[in-house]
Amino acid sequence: MNLSTRFTETARECADKHAYVFMDQGTTYQELDAQISRFAAGLQHLGLQKGDHIALLLGNSPHYIVALYGAFRAGITVIPINPIYTADEISYILNDGDVRVVVALDRVVPVIEKLENSTYTETYIICETTPDTSWATSPVAEKFIPFMSFMQQTHPLEDIETVGDDTAIILYTSGTTGKPKGVMLTHDNLYANASDVGKYLDIRHDDRVVTTLPMFHVFCLTVALNAPLIQGGTLLIVPQFSPAEVTRIIKKYNATMFAGVPTMFNFLYQFLGATKEDMQSVRLWISGGSSLPVALLHDFEAKYDVKIREGYGLSEASPVTCFNPIDRPNKAGSIGLSIVNVENRVVDPDGHDVPVGQVGELVVKGPNVMKGYYKMPDATAAALKDGWLHTGDLARRDEEGYFYIVDRKKEVIIVGGYNVYPREVEEVLYEHPAIAEAAAVGMPDPEQGEIVMAYVVKTEDALAEEEVIAYCREHLAKYKVPRRVAFLEELPKNATGKILRRELQKLS
Ligand code: AMP
Repeated sequence: MNLSTRFTETARECADKHAYVFMDQGTTYQELDAQISRFAAGLQHLGLQKGDHIALLLGNSPHYIVALYGAFRAGITVIPINPIYTADEISYILNDGDVRVVVALDRVVPVIEKLENSTYTETYIICETTPDTSWATSPVAEKFIPFMSFMQQTHPLEDIETVGDDTAIILYTSGTTGKPKGVMLTHDNLYANASDVGKYLDIRHDDRVVTTLPMFHVFCLTVALNAPLIQGGTLLIVPQFSPAEVTRIIKKYNATMFAGVPTMFNFLYQFLGATKEDMQSVRLWISGGSSLPVALLHDFEAKYDVKIREGYGLSEASPVTCFNPIDRPNKAGSIGLSIVNVENRVVDPDGHDVPVGQVGELVVKGPNVMKGYYKMPDATAAALKDGWLHTGDLARRDEEGYFYIVDRKKEVIIVGGYNVYPREVEEVLYEHPAIAEAAAVGMPDPEQGEIVMAYVVKTEDALAEEEVIAYCREHLAKYKVPRRVAFLEELPKNATGKILRRELQKLS
């Protein structure tokens, strides 16, 4: 069983149900299934064979689902790319990833024209999103095929058998240093995680899921796309997150599930246009991707009278390894228990388990763990030791088996020899009633080595630096207290809402 074969079964069982709703138009499983087959046959007609690579430069839209499952059906590996990447970033991935065909949004054409050295890429299937067809006269137009005409072709589909260990997807991680690495996830990896998460969170055929996380990110892919689709649920596709649009979609379609990053929860919490009543159809609120500040969790739950389940994952684990279970009380600040079939441990630098309550590195084993990094055997060996994936995240575990992420190993600030976990400082800042968002970073200091600097988005103009520092002094040991506080209109974030600490460090 893999995602493609399971989807075919579901499409047969749920033929007349809506697989997704996009721009208030529903598409049934039967229609989607036919589009997927047509796309798969089209790729075969272009000469692509099992094991070839295509890239998707798409936002959240039906094109993405058709191309993804179409490629799976033809045994072709998919490389999703954030469509707002620069030409340099895209060139790197197309070349390193040996990409033959790209499915791209029309508005990405000006970037495609600037790509260098991507001679390996033969064809761009262009998805029209505006009536402007100027892309058709582009200097590289001979490589373009409009998505619409690609889908009008009728070619026979050749049956392709994939084995579980074949690479289904390569996800290029942004990486904090060096070149991006291509995480190879197999058909087994993706299917295992989508079905295990589905079982663990009880995702069902009658679920209507708000799909607003970016589809090119693995959190969306598994939790808000594959898991509901293989169960016969309905995706409510939101191309661009906004609290108003998400609230509208929840109300109009009685959504039952929402998956988001903490920034989205923060926007929804601050939003004045939604009431408790508006949110009641949603039985499963899921947070992941970065730590959900405890103050925000409590505020959100109180405002809307709902429960948020926090989970944790990383690209290399397809991604989910832990979640707060749905049948027990949530533990605030925790990422929950190991999900079914996945083992998590907290270890010291020699790989031995540390005692309960102590901090160590989180390591993971399970059918969801990647095959390796594409063409990077050394990086693969460094990440997968004795079958355990080393996450680079520091964590601790309590007596009941709940895990808590302390911070990323690389982000620990060392002040005069003492470790400061930015998250600990941030949790305190989020408790302040006039602070909407906060991030703590290390700044070089001639005496202490590093000191803590806080970047804050405030909700009251009058809030001053000294006041924030005085407040932190009441709640934190002296060496953890930010030496300086700067106020910003907003914090720099990537497409999945992770705060870009490197950008903040550049501001210091
Ligand atoms: P990515 O591979 O882009 O999905 O990023 C994975 C990283 O996100 C992990 O290694 C963690 O550092 C972080 N992360 C994901 N979920 C959480 C969470 N619930 N709490 C803290 N960090 C998280």
